[in-house]
Amino acid sequence: MASPTTTPSETRAPESPPPAAKTPEKRPFLLDFFPLETPDQTRLHRFYERLREGRLSTTRCPRDGELHWPPRTACPSCRTEELEWVDLPESGHVYAFSAVLVGAPLGMEAEVPFAVGLVDLDGVPLRLFGRIEGRPWTELRIGEPVRTEAYDIGDGRMFYRFRTSG
Ligand SMILES: [Zn+2]
Repeated sequence: MASPTTTPSETRAPESPPPAAKTPEKRPFLLDFFPLETPDQTRLHRFYERLREGRLSTTRCPRDGELHWPPRTACPSCRTEELEWVDLPESGHVYAFSAVLVGAPLGMEAEVPFAVGLVDLDGVPLRLFGRIEGRPWTELRIGEPVRTEAYDIGDGRMFYRFRTSG
């Protein structure tokens, strides 16, 4: 008969390794704001490869000409997977914005307050959401011109954001 005070789950190795240091690379997957970017992790890896070259891009369907955002692995209209990558305009205008004052995503707690918003890119029918850098959020204005930029989030991964010209 087993002892009621001893179960296998209570058995521990004499020396367990120290807990891992908390670094941005150790974020729990489900709480990581930024997606995984390598070819073995996403079929949209070319989006990030192009960001590394400073090019914000998306997919377009060569059959019906539909421009997608976010980029797709298949056209939502005709379902073809033979899509082409196209660079997006580098300029746009703020459609709406807000500020993150509390409750920032994991790893961004020290960066509040910061602005996020919707930006209409010039010349294409796309409205993108993203962080807006530059002037303080209290000085942002609707309709303000911004430019897109690619940046390294700090652990080798790339993402995009907007920056005010002023
Ligand atoms: Zn299509």
